[in-house]
Amino acid sequence: MDFLHPRRAGAAVLAVGLSFLAACGARSLVPVSANFQVVAEFYPLYVTLLNLTDGVPGVQVSNLVPTATGCPEDYQLTPGDMKTLMGANVFIINGTGLEGYLGKLAAQCPQLKVVDASAGIALLKIEGEDNPHLWVSPLTAARQTRNIAAALATADPAHASLYRKNGEAYATRQEGLAAHMRDVLAPAPVRRFVAFHDSLPYLARDLNLEMVAILEPAPGQNPSARELADVAVRVRSASGQVALLTEIDAKNPAAEVLSRELGRPLYSLDTVTTGPLEPAAAKEAYFRAMDKNLSTLRIAFGLDDYSARTTAAH
Ligand SMILES: [Zn+2]
Repeated sequence: MDFLHPRRAGAAVLAVGLSFLAACGARSLVPVSANFQVVAEFYPLYVTLLNLTDGVPGVQVSNLVPTATGCPEDYQLTPGDMKTLMGANVFIINGTGLEGYLGKLAAQCPQLKVVDASAGIALLKIEGEDNPHLWVSPLTAARQTRNIAAALATADPAHASLYRKNGEAYATRQEGLAAHMRDVLAPAPVRRFVAFHDSLPYLARDLNLEMVAILEPAPGQNPSARELADVAVRVRSASGQVALLTEIDAKNPAAEVLSRELGRPLYSLDTVTTGPLEPAAAKEAYFRAMDKNLSTLRIAFGLDDYSARTTAAH
């Protein structure tokens, strides 16, 4: 029997290879209602998916890009990610060109259904590039919610009405939040800000705020001393006050230098790229983050005095 071993080993490798290839499309052969696996590209889409699949039987939702990554610009798929995607029925991506890995994924997983959550949404450009941060504004996030709900209804038709109902409810809540944030900030005496990362243009547009400058010359890059000095000059020469906004999950020494230089505080916003994965806690993560952001923006834009707030809390 010994002579069979090498051939057996060869056959085993071949079998693994075939199952690897077959796995990408295999799930479409089983009734989708039996076990429908949906993978979110990153945290804000994961939170949306938990809300859209609420009460839908047989659905499993998972999050791909680790929450510690923050904003997934330049993210590369790991072998573990590929394994996760091979077991998926549907992969929900942000779109807008954020995913440099799509070509490789399509080559390895040609049958995976990839849903672009940004489909049909007009994109803002920063220095000629499509800006991907649609989810940071509740108004554009609601458009993504409706796109994803429609795609789930198509991919898992047995539960189409549930996806549509959940999608309508969650998108309507997000639109209500957008209107609330806009109304609260409408009388703010400060309306301009400097951003650290290019994550705020949709939020600024939808809240009628004005972004004066972005500190990062490109995502993940620190500005040079000269670029930093240029931003400081623009802030000083702007008429009226300019708030300095950064992000809670970003290490940003340049923003701290600017803050010291100008003698103005830095305010941190939560762009919802990180949070708890446990579904019960994650489901409300978007609204929790935005409520906190609104409190921060009230202070940054001169509606609330921080010391008054802390005094009132005692
Ligand atoms: Zn980003």
